[in-house]
Amino acid sequence: MSTAAHVPSYWAATAGPDPDGIRTLDGDRRADVAVIGGGYTGLAAAYRLAGTHGLDAVVLEANAIGWGASGRNGGFALITLGKVGLEDRIRRWGIEAARRSIAIGVEAIETVRELIAREHIACDPGPDGSLLVAHRPSAVADLQERVRLYREVLGYPHVEFLDHARLEHDGYLRGAEASGALRTRNAFGLHPLKYVRGLAAAALRCGATLCERSPVVEWRREGSEHVLVTPRGAVRARTVIMATNGYTAEGLHPFFRGRLLPATSNIIVTRPLTAAEWRDVGMLTTQVYSDTRKLLFYWRRLPDDRLLFGGRAGVLDTPAGRSRCRRRLEAHVAAKWPALRGVASEYFWSGKVCLSYDLMPHVNRADGDPSVAYALAYQGSGVAMSTYCGGLVADLVAGKDVPRDTPLTSATLPRFPLPFLRSAYLAGAYVVYGVKDRWA
Ligand SMILES: Cc1cc2nc3c(=O)[nH]c(=O)nc-3n(C[C@H](O)[C@H](O)[C@H](O)COP(=O)(O)OP(=O)(O)OC[C@H]3O[C@@H](n4cnc5c(N)ncnc54)[C@H](O)[C@@H]3O)c2cc1C
Repeated sequence: MSTAAHVPSYWAATAGPDPDGIRTLDGDRRADVAVIGGGYTGLAAAYRLAGTHGLDAVVLEANAIGWGASGRNGGFALITLGKVGLEDRIRRWGIEAARRSIAIGVEAIETVRELIAREHIACDPGPDGSLLVAHRPSAVADLQERVRLYREVLGYPHVEFLDHARLEHDGYLRGAEASGALRTRNAFGLHPLKYVRGLAAAALRCGATLCERSPVVEWRREGSEHVLVTPRGAVRARTVIMATNGYTAEGLHPFFRGRLLPATSNIIVTRPLTAAEWRDVGMLTTQVYSDTRKLLFYWRRLPDDRLLFGGRAGVLDTPAGRSRCRRRLEAHVAAKWPALRGVASEYFWSGKVCLSYDLMPHVNRADGDPSVAYALAYQGSGVAMSTYCGGLVADLVAGKDVPRDTPLTSATLPRFPLPFLRSAYLAGAYVVYGVKDRWA
């Protein structure tokens, strides 16, 4: 079913209008490539297909362009490539692939920065820097080891460790949960809905066709053509790109069954805080933050001085479940910074991130059906990576040689063992991680 309006969020309230030229699919048409999903992945793919490869690309989006995670995330552009730890990358993939995985993260950030500059996307990009904060003293040693691995083993110099005193002194952070932090230079905050609309406008200028309110409700083959059926028309194409991430319907194409695990991420935004309140929090910068909890919290100071604070968890998509999540986030803000006790949230919303069994995003062709390609499963860190992977999957279907030097492109999106237990895994993981975050 199509629900075109964006979820009510701080971003939806401040983004301005959609670009002109977005339509609803009406009638039948052919395309070189049909893209399902109108978020960063699908739009970056269309931009590259039309702009670089000169192909006729049609994006089919069920709701509004950017309606999914792309229009409602925290807006942290990070170098993060999946959730496999640094030591595991080195041990399992080998040192070259591990180094390359860091370089891909940096390329992803540069891709976003370049796009913003080249296409004049007014999406309020912030200053460079993300901080991963040790939420208790026992997490400090691990962060210091990560800095060592980045610098000495992986050849990435743009990280530093900031101890508690430096966090306070340099205006990064105060409070009992500021034991130290790993700061990465290649990162920044942006307005996610303005960014996705800017990307849409750029794709339109290159000649791509963008259709919203056009959910693919049936997908069939006729000879060598795919026929993607929407309520008011159909697209026929020899090649299809799946860009539906956490909103992928289980039954749309058999390859994707049992391979993705959507999870909910929730965000609150407070009223603008006063200068005195920000001094108590100790954040004099608009760089972006997350902490070392397994069920991590992420936060940032917005350009209008509000605090955005988000976190994973919550498996019950009911009004009661949602209001519990909101109260939980408000309680954690008060626990981190007691001066903010009683500062209620003015906005609260949720969205779906997408996990995979091997905790990696994947860009590849579907096994058994090479005319279907996909870029999926950013593990909750997809602002930069989905922009990058959208371009990569476009190159792949355009026949360009895509390097197979990390599991991002060399491995297939794996199927979960016992896929019907996926939600139970997630609920179980939340319980275990919640206990570890509190006690371990
Ligand atoms: C609350 C939240 C906070 C986040 N914070 C961050 C962050 O700060 N930094 C970061 O890097 N990442 C963050 N993420 C993750 C990031 O937003 C995603 O990884 C990224 O937006 C994925 O983009 P996408 O285009 O692949 O998918 P999406 O933007 O989710 O788009 C998928 C689209 O597919 C459409 N669709 C599904 N089925 C069909 C169909 N049958 N027909 C047509 N269309 C269909 C959906 O309507 C949807 O719009 C966050 C996510 C959430 C939910």
